[in-house]
This record gives sequence, C-alpha cells and structure tokens, in this order.
Amino acid sequence: MSAVRGLDGEALLAQLREWAAAEGFSQIGVADVDLGSAEPGLLAWLHNGFHGAMDYMARHGLKRARPAELVPGTLRVVSARMDYLPESAPEGWQAIEWQRLAAPDQATVSLYARGRDYHKVLRTRLQRLADRLADAVGPYGHRVFTDSAPVLEVELAARSGGGWRGKHTLALHRDGGSMFFLGEIFVDLALPLTPPVDAHCGSCSACLTVCPTGAIVAPYRLDARRCISYLTIEHPGAIPEEFRVALGNRVYGCDDCQLVCPWNKYAQRARLPDFDVREPLGDATLLQLWAWDEAEFLRRTEGSAIRRIGFQRWQRNLAVALGNAWRVSGDAPLRDALHGRLEAADPLVREHIEWALAQRPLP
Ligand code: SF4
Ligand code: SF4
Repeated sequence: MSAVRGLDGEALLAQLREWAAAEGFSQIGVADVDLGSAEPGLLAWLHNGFHGAMDYMARHGLKRARPAELVPGTLRVVSARMDYLPESAPEGWQAIEWQRLAAPDQATVSLYARGRDYHKVLRTRLQRLADRLADAVGPYGHRVFTDSAPVLEVELAARSGGGWRGKHTLALHRDGGSMFFLGEIFVDLALPLTPPVDAHCGSCSACLTVCPTGAIVAPYRLDARRCISYLTIEHPGAIPEEFRVALGNRVYGCDDCQLVCPWNKYAQRARLPDFDVREPLGDATLLQLWAWDEAEFLRRTEGSAIRRIGFQRWQRNLAVALGNAWRVSGDAPLRDALHGRLEAADPLVREHIEWALAQRPLP
C-alpha cells in the first residue's frame, strides 16, 4: 500500500477521482515529475523555431519539462481533462462543421471557443479540487495550471493515462477523442502514479493530410508558424500571405485535424453549461461579425477566450476570411463591407482589407 501522510494512497486517489467528477472533469491521472525523455523533442522543436512568436515557450526553456524546477518541491502532477464539445452538438456534428467550412460567407470559430473562456472555468474547479485534497491531508504545497505556457500538458496527460499523443500532437483518448481541455495541479504529495494508455493512431495519417497549411510537418511535429490556430490567435502582426487563402473562413482557431480524426466519434459532450454555444458564434456570417465595432466586440466576447486576441486581430482575421469569400462568390455586399472599413482601419487591418479586395479583379 502506498501511503500519503499516513493515509492509504489508493483510497485517496479514489476520493480525488470522485471529487473531480463532481467538478465536471471526465478523468484525472497522476504523473511523475521526471519528463527527461521529452526534453530532446522540446529542444528540437524550439531549435527549429516551430514556436513562432510564442517567445514565452523558449524563455522558459527546459523548465517546461521539469515540474520540480517550475514549482520547487513538486513530487507529482495531477493531470485533469474536461470535455468541451458543446452539449447542443448533434449527432454527426463533424459533417456540420465541414459544411460550415465549405460555405465562404459563414464564419468558423473553433468549437472550444464558442462558450465561456475555459481558463477560468478549469482554474476555479482545479483549485476547489486542490482545496478538498487539503481538507483530507492537511496543508500541502501545490499550484494550479490551465493551458499555461511553461507546462508540458500533453506529455503529462499521456504519461498518466489521460490519453496518448496523437500525430496532430494533441492528447487523444479512446473514450473521449480529443475535444477536451487539460489542466494540472502540481503537488508535493507522493500520490500513487496512474499508468499510461496505449497509443492508437496506428497507420492513420488523416490529420496530416487534411491540414490546410501543412502545419503537421511530420507525425507528432507541429510547426506552429504554419498552424491556423496559431496564426489567428497567437500570432501578432500580419498573417503571412502564403497562408491567407488556406485560412478560408476560419476566424478564430482551426479544428480540421480534430474533425477528421476517427477517434472524435467518441468525443463527449461538455458536462458544464459554461461551454454552451454563445450566440451568434455557432452560426454567424462573416458580415455579421464584421459589422461589430470595438465596443460591440468587447461586449459580445465578455467572458470568452476570443476577447484575449483583441479587436485588431479579430478584424485582421475577418478581413482575410472576407477576402476569401469575395474571391469565391463575388458578392457585392462583401466588397462593400470591406470598402466601408478601409479608411478608418489601422495600418495592419488596412493591409489585410486591401489584400482582401484584391482577391477579385475589378470589372
Ligand atoms: S489546427 Fe488546423 S492548421 Fe493547425 S495543425 Fe490542425 S489542421 Fe493544421
Ligand atoms: S487523425 Fe489519425 S493520425 Fe491523426 S491523431 Fe487522429 S488517429 Fe491519430
């Protein structure tokens, strides 16, 4: 029997699982802090510059792979996953998403971002979980992370049975696909470890083939600089022209490598109403979103992850998508809407509007 401060470790873990389920998590695992074997891959990724402008990734260097350096005293990492597929997603939701992507006048927002900002949701619930553990074992050292730059979240999940790393580099689970968030509690308690699960990508390479920008440069290797998720959310400044057509109507994030993944037929609906779709993000047109001024953008995205990118990047992304729609359909309202914002636009957005208008030669 493994003991944690004189308590039965396995019984404590069983309790933790129960509390986690009550907080809306679908699974928790416990990982060791020695992630040494992940370090060469991380260093090669950084060395290749695949992190793009996400300087914080390079800044933290190997601290990301060393939980005990990031939070001294850490002995274990509790890795938790929470499903986010909106409750309202019907059977065959992937087909609906593909249809939306094929409709140039529609705006596609990544599924995870259609509800409430997950950072706060997960953080609050992980902290409650940590507090319940303190009630059981007494005060202990811990720190909660959600989608935090210095943490190798997928690695920790994969090592503790939260799934395996898919060829698209996201965590993947037989019972839950990949439509889930990850969060961690670093603890200075020697909780019993939970074993990893086998990988089941097999000979599939659908995510590599489907990626519109060729961002998955090899199985398990993502060049973030080419990834639409990165380009529309993290990337500051101009979107490189070589990727603008491929961006299509994706205005915030990209789900293609997940939509195509066969394991996502097992994706679970969110248990929390926080991830319900906020209107109009589930079925907005580009013109509808383009009509928002900054005040409306801030109002509509209050409590949403989208707000983090700010109005300028939002307009930049929309301008590219409108340009793609204009090229395909030639619908005059698209051109007029782009023209309508040209004069008042700041230089960054203006350049994207000009690109958009140039997608179709004037008659
Ligand atoms: S999110 Fe989109 S662009 Fe990024 S790797 Fe997946 S399919 Fe490619
Ligand atoms: S699409 Fe295929 S290769 Fe890619 S993560 Fe899913 S199962 Fe693995």
